[in-house]
Amino acid sequence: MLYLDCNATTPLDPRVMQAMEPYWIEQSANPSSSHRSGRAARAALERAREEVAELVHAPAKQVIFTSGGTEANHLAIQGMAQSMTEVGWMAVGATEHPSLHAAVQMMERQGWQAHTLEVDHNGVITEGSLQWVHQYRPQLISLMLANNETGVIQPLQELVATAREVGAKVHVDATQAAGKIEVNFNALGVDCMTISAHKLYGPKGVGALVVSPSLSLTPQLGGGGQELRRRAGTENVPAIVGFGVAAAIASSELEKVRHQLQEMRQQLEQGLQQIQGVEIVAQEAERLPNTVMLLVAGMEGETLLMQLDQKGVAVSSGSACQAGKSGPNPVLRAMGVDEQMGRNAIRISLCRHTTEEQIEQFLMTLKETLAPQSAVMRQAVWG
Ligand code: PMP
Repeated sequence: MLYLDCNATTPLDPRVMQAMEPYWIEQSANPSSSHRSGRAARAALERAREEVAELVHAPAKQVIFTSGGTEANHLAIQGMAQSMTEVGWMAVGATEHPSLHAAVQMMERQGWQAHTLEVDHNGVITEGSLQWVHQYRPQLISLMLANNETGVIQPLQELVATAREVGAKVHVDATQAAGKIEVNFNALGVDCMTISAHKLYGPKGVGALVVSPSLSLTPQLGGGGQELRRRAGTENVPAIVGFGVAAAIASSELEKVRHQLQEMRQQLEQGLQQIQGVEIVAQEAERLPNTVMLLVAGMEGETLLMQLDQKGVAVSSGSACQAGKSGPNPVLRAMGVDEQMGRNAIRISLCRHTTEEQIEQFLMTLKETLAPQSAVMRQAVWG
């Protein structure tokens, strides 16, 4: 299988698997236990916390481990909102991940008002959105650093400055950005940030919310005092150890991998430009080096995905979390792509082990698959 779906998830790095191994059986003590074995598990957990913190340039004590990006997004939105004395406005980007929208909807049921910050045709929040923040002074703002479907990177600086002026707390979902581009929690100046291990060659089911030291956050899970009393439950030590090692590898290889992916994306996009009826989404915007979203004239993304699948190529027709849900693609709709064309999207997300030969193979397979469509495509009018 030619796997070009690394934004959905990445395979585990064998070095990560090896590092996790002892923590399943020989060193499987509870990190909250006081005995020697417990202390060894605690030491492994704290080492992983340092490694994860280093990846995003934050102090280790500001990292709260969770079960993944989804939980971290819920902890951020619900935890911040519930710690505030009054309900009010919260503002979220139009192209956020479904888990973020779900957390916002939960808070709406508790009396909060939610506003969607509109984006332009490139998926970047508009000047109008910043003006809205000035005028309505929300208590909480959440925006993703990089979009999982289009790869578009949000320039956050101005939004964070505006948020500071109006006294809003800011959460950033960096799930897709961490490990692919440089992410600096301190420099971003946000209050909390979501990351997830399985997007950076670590295990599934583990992530983190990075928080600023002064942030008030109501825990969403109670019972034990784990994770600085902010997330109860026995920590998943093997997974967290894996997350740490994956983060350390991502930190040390970031520049090399980023450069490599950028070159391959260029090769891919040059090839795609030769195919009639194919349009690259947000091509002029700053995007993740591994992500390309395409609109293909005359063929629904889901159909194309299945045909590519039969030929041994794995891509996606948008967010994996949207898979199986019918209806227009919300991210593309927010970017002003019309409903019908929005159905004709596929996302190619390269992996750090993807090769030039594989890009060529993909381009050939795509051309072959689209060939019967070419008559339709010639008639297509691009708006
Ligand atoms: N946010 C973004 C931007 C994502 O891409 C994802 C995963 N698709 C998540 C959050 C959820 O992360 P997880 O799968 O670890 O729950």
